[in-house]
Amino acid sequence: MPKAKSIFILGAGESGVGAALLAQAKGYRVTVANDGPIANTFSKELQHNGITYFEFVPEPKTVLPFNEFIKSPGVADAHPLVNFYNTQKKPVISEIEFAARYCKAKTIGITGSNGKTTTTLLVHHILKKAGYKVALAGNVGPSFARTVLNSTFDYCVLELSSFQLDGCFQFKPDIAVLLNITPDHLDRYQNNFNYYTASKFKIIQHATRRNHFIYCHDDATIAAYLKTHTTQAHVYPFSITQPIIGSGAYLNASTITITYKPNQKPLTMNIEQLALQGKHNIYNSMAAALAAKLAHVRKSVIRESLQDFQNIEHRLEFVATIHGIEYINDSKATNVNSAWYALESMNKPVIWICGGQDKGNNYDELTALVASKVKAIVCLGKNNTKIISAFGSLVGNIVETQTAQDAVCAAAKFAKSGDAVLLSPACASFDLFKNYEERGLAFKAAVRSL
Ligand code: ADP
Repeated sequence: MPKAKSIFILGAGESGVGAALLAQAKGYRVTVANDGPIANTFSKELQHNGITYFEFVPEPKTVLPFNEFIKSPGVADAHPLVNFYNTQKKPVISEIEFAARYCKAKTIGITGSNGKTTTTLLVHHILKKAGYKVALAGNVGPSFARTVLNSTFDYCVLELSSFQLDGCFQFKPDIAVLLNITPDHLDRYQNNFNYYTASKFKIIQHATRRNHFIYCHDDATIAAYLKTHTTQAHVYPFSITQPIIGSGAYLNASTITITYKPNQKPLTMNIEQLALQGKHNIYNSMAAALAAKLAHVRKSVIRESLQDFQNIEHRLEFVATIHGIEYINDSKATNVNSAWYALESMNKPVIWICGGQDKGNNYDELTALVASKVKAIVCLGKNNTKIISAFGSLVGNIVETQTAQDAVCAAAKFAKSGDAVLLSPACASFDLFKNYEERGLAFKAAVRSL
């Protein structure tokens, strides 16, 4: 009998444990290691399935005998174990790469710096309404590996982060979507934007003429990259600034036109009908509609789905109107570009709650919007020096707070009926909160207690 192949998995969260379960089901000898205690639900699952695991990182030489090495997306490339395995000239793969080997469904992979979750959920919603058996997985929902293990589907809609794409070598989604590329997570890419860009483009690294590539034509980084790199995939650019001739989507006045085959009648829709408002969501809706069209969904179903989609928590989420002041939770805006779109979409004077853990932010991009729309800034972070120096001369009222309750109270004092209080931090949350969800929930609780 041939000896079972062995696999080492670093990280025991949803993706690591999902990969472990799938690998075991496929006959691998599996070992999992986590830097510290493993969450109860996951350690129980590993125990229950008889999978060997450690709650510490073993000596590098012990990983050498393993045939394959899967790294969870949360683990940095600079991790000593990863470095060591890499020096052996063996690829360290992601759970996505591994799961794709066993996936029989068609895959739609969605990446970008912002809008991944929104667009992934939109596509999932449309395909479900169309009657497909469709899974939602990857960076949102269960891991791809767990999804592949548990059932079979017509389509898997995958949200893909750059960390997940870094560990992809053969995987190519049938339909790839690239929403935008703006600076984020540069700490993980040696502060080199080109490395981050290359990581996003791994989504089409092996695309053939049987694959489709939907991308934002207005994004300068994507456009520049495509000038020097070719792809065999069918391409579908989308734009809100200029008409797209041939396959793709564009906005003209208030109508979006979606053409998936030049000889077919396009799908058109007024942007006022879209459930998700704001410029960024016109992009997301166009990308989702193109993906759905390529999955052969009827126009009427796409139209209806784009209209009845329920917005997701922490993304420009309306919380309440109190004394004529509107409160909006955009806690998921953890970088400058997403905060730009939030401010851009505001049509009232804004009390802007921002700040948190800085990711090497450059605030210049926001200057014009802040000057024209923001009447007061409430910093919600431990260290607010960069925000104060970027906007202090533009906005007279700036205060610093360290709890959501204080931030909301301060904002309420600045606001008058007809204003909006917007939490759109442009920063990560880890200085004061467990994650962006906790920050958003604390904000909503504080608003409700007003
Ligand atoms: P991701 O999964 O890529 O982080 P989300 O859909 O969770 O994206 O949205 C994150 C933040 O980015 C939210 O504040 C949202 O309003 C904003 N956003 C959504 N789509 C876009 C887009 N296409 N461009 C810029 N910002 C966006």
